[in-house]
This record gives sequence, structure tokens and C-alpha cells, in this order.
Amino acid sequence: MTQETRKFEAEVSQVLHLVTHSLYSHKEIFLRELISNASDACDKLRFESQSHPELLDGDAELRIQVSWDPEARTISVRDNGVGMSRDEVVANIGTVASSGTRRYLEALSGEQKADARLIGQFGVGFYSAFVVADRVTVLTRRAGSAASEGVRWESDGKGEYSLDDVELPARGTTVILHLKADEDEFLQPWTLRSTIAKYSDHVAFPIRMPKDSDGKPDTDEWETINSASALWARPKSDISDEDYQSFYKALGHDFNDALAWTHNRVEGSQSFTTLLYIPSQPPFDLMMGGSDERKGLKLYIKRVFIMDAAEELLPKYLRFVRGVVDADDLPLNVSREILQKNRQLDRIRGACVKRVLDLLEKLSRDEPAKFTTFLDAFGNTLKEGIVEDAGNRERIAKLLRFASTKGEGAGKTVSLDDYIGRMQIGQDIIWYVTADSYAAAAGSPQLEALKAKGVEVLLMFDRIDEWMLGYLNEYEGKRLQNVAKGELPLDEADKRKQEAATQAAEPLLARIKTLLSDRVSDVRVSARLTDSPSCLALADYDMAPHLARLLREAGQ
Ligand code: ADP
Ligand code: MG
Repeated sequence: MTQETRKFEAEVSQVLHLVTHSLYSHKEIFLRELISNASDACDKLRFESQSHPELLDGDAELRIQVSWDPEARTISVRDNGVGMSRDEVVANIGTVASSGTRRYLEALSGEQKADARLIGQFGVGFYSAFVVADRVTVLTRRAGSAASEGVRWESDGKGEYSLDDVELPARGTTVILHLKADEDEFLQPWTLRSTIAKYSDHVAFPIRMPKDSDGKPDTDEWETINSASALWARPKSDISDEDYQSFYKALGHDFNDALAWTHNRVEGSQSFTTLLYIPSQPPFDLMMGGSDERKGLKLYIKRVFIMDAAEELLPKYLRFVRGVVDADDLPLNVSREILQKNRQLDRIRGACVKRVLDLLEKLSRDEPAKFTTFLDAFGNTLKEGIVEDAGNRERIAKLLRFASTKGEGAGKTVSLDDYIGRMQIGQDIIWYVTADSYAAAAGSPQLEALKAKGVEVLLMFDRIDEWMLGYLNEYEGKRLQNVAKGELPLDEADKRKQEAATQAAEPLLARIKTLLSDRVSDVRVSARLTDSPSCLALADYDMAPHLARLLREAGQ
């Protein structure tokens, strides 16, 4: 089995086609993606070498090298990381195992256009090589395997790739890009250099380039291009905002600035560092309806990358957070299974949640414009926390903002505290109405009576609201109640009027009740209405109409 040619999986071909077309105006992204893969490979080897030091085989300085060849018109990205066996090459770059690919395809070809620059978020970054190259060669040898077990993979990105066994003197991976005819700019060392500085400065391994000698590489002398530091391990006072932002971009495969971040070191019986970011825009998997596959929070132990551990370190409703957690006291050979029942990890997780909520509170207090950006992007995700995180329910509720009969149109600007501050004397209920849209909520006849009395009503019209409100019965000791449910509170004068009206309308009520006997359970004179002649109301324990409709739609 030395030489063979194989076809890409159908999905890979589709990805290749879409990537090369849609990344056209941001070609340089390919370098960020290849360097990020090289860095992942070094991380993996460093992790494996904790329990198998022999894998390093006398070459312990993990590094990344980027070079160019003006004659051959190639550029290469080499790492001395973990490398790949033949089977791994086939599995990792010939097929696309992750569901990320499917989402990426949907995102790029669907109505909601994904920005192709987010490619790295979908686990298909390798294919960006074909944006600038018409042929890509991968030479790779798995750490710990013999020189004769090297593998050569090559493809023109048109549906097939070839595999060969080759002799390789050193472990690790070299990706060689044979540049397309009009991509000569990447043969300029300064283009490579500035692209690396822009996108990969905070990669934690040295990225080196040969010295430039009249446009040719001088491979006797290598210069380190990046800062190569574990940013989070440096003291806060040494880190500039630009450092934080460029670290975020590399970490989150994002090209937008982060909205905010929080960087903390906990010292004590258990010491750890957290650096957590809130993006300014939803990552695409969140926008595409959300997946449970969560990336973006990396767990390190004493600066050794262990795994993507967003699920272990953050509850689902904070899945938009990106960042790094570095723990001092966990055993280096932890597995996911051990992590899941680790008590120390519970503490770290609790600290992460607290840090994020603290940060959001600070934003809501001190930077309202940023806070609004946050709520527009992630407000509905945060609402899931009302259901998911009973322990922080009040804190989360305090952060939410709603439209209201005393707010600014459809704008979600009113907090529950604002509402309570405006309550009337004697009012002890926070009233809300739910509907499918702002217009339906604001125009609901259910509001008339409360409006006439000057009582504020929150207008809820997001899909998730009804579900969330099922768990948010109380805030600051005040009950939340749907105006469509049960009896409205009446004062004495209202009660007398209603009794008189009921008596006067008795024959009419009886007649309507007979006519609608199979559709309604009761017909009453109501104090709810001031302008409309009638409305539907629910008993206290009935399901809200909006929710009932959702369940019907879902076939329940
Ligand atoms: P992702 O990095 O998100 O997994 P990519 O398309 O960038 O997606 O890479 C696909 C896979 O190919 C990686 O997960 C990894 O297993 C393998 N791979 C890519 N580059 C390298 C490399 N330099 N060394 C080892 N494995 C690599
Ligand atoms: Mg990658």
C-alpha cells in the first residue's frame, strides 16, 4: 500500500468549492488557519509527551516554521508537532467527520450568508490552503513512528487526492502550497511576516521565518516573528488592549474585536487563571440555530493545552464565551471522564460563571452601548440561564431587558428593576403579556384595563420568552404575572361596577355561553377591557395561547 489515489467525500468537494470562492477577498486567512493547525499539533504533542516523554525524541523545542521558495513558487508551513499516520491523514483531511462541515455548507450556501473568514470556527480551516494554491502537498510523520512511516498527501483540490509512503527524517507536518499563477504576493517575505504578525502573534509556540536574503530564504538563520507567549500567564499590567484583542482573534478565529473580557488569577489552595471574552457578534453556529458541540474555551494545566472543555467549564447558556482556563493543580493526565466528576473543576466552573456575570453587570452599569450590543447578539441565549441556572436566576433576570408599555417602542430597554421603580403604590405584581411579535403584544386587548390605570406591562415577543417565564415566577419578591391569566385585581369601585354589569348582562352571557358552549369554559363580564368589546382570557393554570400554539406546531 504505497501509492493510491482516493476521492474526497462529497462534502469535502463542496466545502473546497465554496471556500475557494467565498474567501477570495480575504485570502491571507489561509496562513492563520495553517499556523493554527500547526500550533494545535504542537499542543497535542506536548500533552502526549507528559505521559510519553520519549515521543519528543531529543527534539523538545516545539516550533513552527514558515518559508517560501521563489523559484518553485511555493510556501511551506512546517511544525514539529504530533504529525499524522496514514490513517489519520485520510480521516482528518480526506473526509470531514465533524458536523461543523455541514453547518459551514449550510451557512455559506443558505440564506443567511456566513462570513467566510470564520472558516476556522467550523473545523474546515485546512481547505483554505486551496484559496491561494492549485496544488497542496502534505508531508507528515506521526511522533513516535519510524522514518519509513512518513506519508505524502497531495491534491489539486478538485475531488481527488493521492497518498504515498515516504521516508521522512523528522516527525511533524509540512504543508507545501504550490501557489496559483496570480498569487505571487505571498512569495514576498514581508507579506508573510505581516500576515503572521496580524493573525498569529499570540500563538504560544515560536513562529520562525528564514532571514530574507535578496528575496531568497537564508535557512541558516531563522527569526522569530511572534511574541510566542501564553498571554494569560502574564501580569495584567503588562498586557495592552491590543494584545488582548489580537489574542482573542486568534483564539476565536474571529476578525472582529471582542466586546469585553475579564482576566483573573485565583491564588489559594487551588490556583487557576481565567481569561474570558465576550464576542461582539454571535459565532455562526450559534446563529445557525445553535449546536451542542461547543468549542472556544480551552483548558490548560500549567500552560500545557489539555482540551477544548467548554462543556465542562461553562453552562450551556454561556456558550458564546471564548477563552482560556489554566489550572495549576489538576493532574496533567486528566481525561474528559475524570474532568466530569472532578470537584476542583466544579469550583473553576463556578468561578467562570461568576466572572462572566460580573463582567455583564459591569457592562450594563458602565457601558450601556456595549451592553446593548451584547443583548442584541446574545440576549436570547442568556435567557436560557433563567431555566438552566436556578442558583443565578436573580442575577440573570437583573441583566435582561424588555419592551414595555412605558418603554421606547419595540426597543428592549426596560429592566425588571426599572419596572419595579415605576410600580404604582400598592402594586405588587410585575405584569407582562406574551405574543408572536411586538405589534401583537403592544396591541393586545388584554392590556387595556391596566393601561387605563397607568400600570406598566412588559411586552414579551421572543420565542424563548414563554418558556423562560415558566421559570421566572418572582423577582425581588414581586410576582410576575401574565395579563391574560386569571382575574385582574380590582378596587372596590371596580368590583361594584362589575357586579352591576354582570347582573345587567346575565341574559346576554347565558346566550353567548350556549352558542360557544363547546369552545369556551366560561363567559364573564370583565374589567380587562376599555375599548374592545371582548377578549379571550385564560384560567390561572392554563397554558398561554402563544405557548399552546408553539406546542401544536411542534406536534404535541
Ligand atoms: P480543525 O483544525 O478545526 O480540526 P482543519 O480543517 O483546520 O480543522 O484541520 C483538520 C484536521 O487535520 C485537524 O483536526 C487535524 O487532525 C489535522 N491536521 C491539520 N493540520 C495538521 C498538522 N499540521 N499536524 C497534525 N494534524 C493536522
Ligand atoms: Mg484548524
